[in-house]
Amino acid sequence: MQNTKPHAALLASPGMGHLIPVLELGKRLVTNHGFNVTVFVATTDNSLSKSQLIEQTPSPNLLNVVLLPPVDVSSLITPTTGILTQLAIMMREALPKLRSAILAMKFCPTVLIVDLFGTEAMVIADEFNMLKYVFITSNAWFLALTLHMPTLDKVVEDNHVKNQEALLIPGCKSLEFDDTFEPVLDRNDQIYVEYKHMGVQMQKFDGILVNTWQDLEGTTIGALGGEKKLGRVAPVPVYPIGPLVRAVKPGPRSEVLDWLDMQPIDSVIYVSFGSGGTLSAKQTTELAYGLESSDRRFIWVVRPPIETDSAAAVFKTSHRSDDSPDFLPDGFLTRTRKMGLVVSKWAPQNEILSHPSVGGFISHCGWNSALESIVNGVPMIAWPLYAEQKMNAAMLTEDVGVAIRSKSLPTKEVVGREEIETMVRTIMDKGDARRARVKTLKSSAERALSKGGSSYNSLSHVANDSETAFKYLKAKPQG
Ligand code: UDP
Repeated sequence: MQNTKPHAALLASPGMGHLIPVLELGKRLVTNHGFNVTVFVATTDNSLSKSQLIEQTPSPNLLNVVLLPPVDVSSLITPTTGILTQLAIMMREALPKLRSAILAMKFCPTVLIVDLFGTEAMVIADEFNMLKYVFITSNAWFLALTLHMPTLDKVVEDNHVKNQEALLIPGCKSLEFDDTFEPVLDRNDQIYVEYKHMGVQMQKFDGILVNTWQDLEGTTIGALGGEKKLGRVAPVPVYPIGPLVRAVKPGPRSEVLDWLDMQPIDSVIYVSFGSGGTLSAKQTTELAYGLESSDRRFIWVVRPPIETDSAAAVFKTSHRSDDSPDFLPDGFLTRTRKMGLVVSKWAPQNEILSHPSVGGFISHCGWNSALESIVNGVPMIAWPLYAEQKMNAAMLTEDVGVAIRSKSLPTKEVVGREEIETMVRTIMDKGDARRARVKTLKSSAERALSKGGSSYNSLSHVANDSETAFKYLKAKPQG
């Protein structure tokens, strides 16, 4: 690699939900803004295989992707350690590996961009005189909550935690208790401490990139960057640069896409709970009967039921399986043979959502899934499970107007078959207003990302600052 243009080092924490948007950001920095990019991917022994990584990389010849040596966190976690705490711990343990990897490079990168779990890498950026940015792979509302955490911590938040009242975030939508982000609830839990720490650290960066765009979250973005006296939440510049989603890959067509080719336009509902979501046995049964009785076509990505952990598949090495799903109700596969397709564990999601036959999505509301649905003009049934998904579901349903959700709370109770049937029929109804709204946002997303659009310009700001830093450092006498 020549030292002739700015070089961005991106650090991704494990999990497809982080890796995919980080790789997309890398791709845009190379193709639109003339950067060299190295993406460092932190791993544990079982979090990611090299082949999965290559499969996800948008254009392998554009990006230098480096898998950091795996870290062993087994002595630091227990069977009850939550998924977010595990991520925070493993990213901390990966820092020496990142430092060594940067030291081994011929030319030091100009800028370091980390995701939410990588904020402690700030010290490495400072050590090597790099600009430093955080990339929030979620939305601006979640970013506002994170930045507000250190303040919240100082105010005794009995209202939200004990009285279950809405949490006020200056200038932004309030957070209802039922939609809350669990880490804010228990000061004695390690994730509370970790999350607050991330909110503190982020304020010391040169800026924060966020995977959203002006038309989607204008009010929140305004509150983040607005005047301090009016209750500005972010003390550093915020750059909405989204929606960055994985491009549909040309290549061999899967069986799923061949099946979709045979279905009428907008007739199929796609059901998937992200890279890691799992349901209980009872919920799996209710979902099966609900889909069947809705009498609509479906593609359902199924995982074996797990009773106590809705994020049980997050760190599983293999997403592929030909196992027959013997946990589905007796005769379900035979009865729905003509209407539905059941896929085990993993499906080419973006390819599916971009197919014209898909007209609805039952989604766990991971932010990448939500964005993929919007950029493909597909309305959703929001079915949040873990992390900040309840917040996403609330926003998509109430503010953005592209989703509906159940009265029963999927994180607390079983959503019954009748409710599922009604929701599926509602969202697949051609006249539903949410369908029109999501199509408008699809066009607005395209405009934001194209040259001169709001997100394109936001990333140009970051690129220009990096270019200036690069020229300055190059001109500076060494030693
Ligand atoms: N994904 C996929 N196939 C699947 C499940 C997930 O391609 O069967 C991709 C999906 O398209 C998205 C990512 O994995 O890009 C999941 O990210 P998201 O933020 O939606 O949820 P998470 O998995 O992080 O909870």
